[in-house]
Amino acid sequence: MLALALTSGASAAAAAAVAAGYQSMAPTGQWYGKTFTGLPRGSRQIALTYDDGPNDPHTLRLLEVLAKHSVRATFFLIGRYVQQRPKIVREIVQAGHVVGNHTFTHPLLIFKSKTEIKQQLSECRAALQDAIGEPSNLFRPPFGGRRPAVLRVARDLGLQPIMWSVTGYDWNAPPAAVIERKVANQIRGGDVILLHDGGHKQMGANRSQTVIATDHLIMRYKAEKYDFVTIPQMMAESTLSGRPSAVS
Ligand SMILES: [Zn+2]
Repeated sequence: MLALALTSGASAAAAAAVAAGYQSMAPTGQWYGKTFTGLPRGSRQIALTYDDGPNDPHTLRLLEVLAKHSVRATFFLIGRYVQQRPKIVREIVQAGHVVGNHTFTHPLLIFKSKTEIKQQLSECRAALQDAIGEPSNLFRPPFGGRRPAVLRVARDLGLQPIMWSVTGYDWNAPPAAVIERKVANQIRGGDVILLHDGGHKQMGANRSQTVIATDHLIMRYKAEKYDFVTIPQMMAESTLSGRPSAVS
């Protein structure tokens, strides 16, 4: 009886630990504080987001595709790349896209001290300020990793944490058709789609398949009467409609 109680107690604790770990990475989990993950299902808005740039030359190819369709997107940039390619960052902004803070060197923040977290966000912020004259008020944690301290430090710096509801699974550059299928399988309307125009390990990651997938996804969902918007546009819509953002 005692053994049974101990066993079930231990497995409950283990399950709780696993759930806590899962929540610290789950894109739509809200246990560790509010993050924006999109609009309620059924909205006709979709936000394309691209992480880990600026990336030479794939960010520029992506800008061409977005311009061809008159679509604006949101780019979460790595500070050290911003320092290396400030001209690309200026091109992103001049084309009407929005940029956000994705830390300076892309560490998993759940294992970092408050001081280190603050340093990562501040250094990226300074790099953006130098490149485009503005620091951005949007933040996406690398790997989606967060805990209360991460969100608190971000808020203290005036940064809004932005997650996503649709994962493109394009990290390892699968064929464009695979990226398109994975995204299409998850779209419900009001989605924030996570894609990558760069790679956090080094500049020059090949994102040609993501660029092709973007072209096809825009054509497909425009034909279905969806609007492609930036994260600030989507957040304004969420405030205007008085509906809470999706927390599925
Ligand atoms: Zn990233």
